[in-house]
Amino acid sequence: MEKIRVLIAKPGLDGHDRGALVIAQAMRDHGMEVIYTGLRQSPLQIANAAIQEDVDIIGLSSLSGAHNTLFPKVIEELKKRDAGDIPVIAGGVIPNEDIPFLIEKGIKRIFTSGSSTEEMAIYIKQLIRLEESAEPPKKIAHIGIAVHNIEESLTFYKSALGLIAEGMEEVAEEGVKVAFLKIGETRIELLEPLHDNSPIKKFLDKKGEGIHHIALEVDDIHSRLNQLKIKGIQLINEEAKIGAHNSQIAFIHPKAAHGVLFELCQHAEGSGE
Ligand code: ZN
Repeated sequence: MEKIRVLIAKPGLDGHDRGALVIAQAMRDHGMEVIYTGLRQSPLQIANAAIQEDVDIIGLSSLSGAHNTLFPKVIEELKKRDAGDIPVIAGGVIPNEDIPFLIEKGIKRIFTSGSSTEEMAIYIKQLIRLEESAEPPKKIAHIGIAVHNIEESLTFYKSALGLIAEGMEEVAEEGVKVAFLKIGETRIELLEPLHDNSPIKKFLDKKGEGIHHIALEVDDIHSRLNQLKIKGIQLINEEAKIGAHNSQIAFIHPKAAHGVLFELCQHAEGSGE
C-alpha cells in the first residue's frame, strides 16, 4: 500500500512551530509521508502546496487564535481549485465552543490539546483507507412516501399504477404504519402516522403528502455508520435501530445530504429483500 501523504501547515502569523513539528514527526513514525510547509503560510499557499504535493490530507495547526477565519479560508481556497475533496483536519489551541463552527465550515475533525498524536494517526489511517475501500450501497431499498391515510392512497398505487401491496405493518418505535409496494428490485414505502408525535405527522403538517426519504440498502450498517462518523457526516441516528421487517435502519441528516433524508437499511438474512 502506498504511504499516506500528509501536509502539515500553519496558517497565520504565530511564530511557534514546535507543536506542528511534533505532529509531523509522530505521523512519520506512523509510516506516513509528511510535508511541512513551515511557518506563516497563507491559506492560498497551503492550498497550492497541498495540490502540488498531491497529499491525501491536510493538518492545520494554529495557536494564534485566528483559526475561525484562517481555517475556513483554506477550505475555500481548496474548493476554488477543485480540490475540495482533500480532507482537512486541525489542531492547536482551539476552544471547544469554536469546534461546531469549524466543523460546519468543512474541517473534518478538530484535535484539541488533550488529544494524543496516536489518536490523530489512527483517525487519519481510518479516514484515508475508508476513502479507498468504501463499498457503495447496493441499491435503493425503497422510497418512503408520507401519506395521511394508507388505505386511501393504496387505491392510486393499486388501481392506477397496478402495483401490488405486500401487507401492512406498524413500526411502534417510529410511530408509523407502513405498507410496501414492490416495484422491480425496489419498493415504495407508504408511511402513515400512528399518533401526533410521529415524525411523519410533523412532516405532513409542514410539507403535506409527498416523498419523505430514500432508503439505501447496505451490507453492514454498523461499519457504514462508523465510516460516516469518521468522515464527519451528521447523522440523525448514531446507532442502528429496528425498522420494518426487522431491518436495521439509521438516518443521515438531510443537512449533510443536500436536503435529502437518506435512510440506511440492512435487511436480515433470508428476508428476501
Ligand atoms: Zn424507510
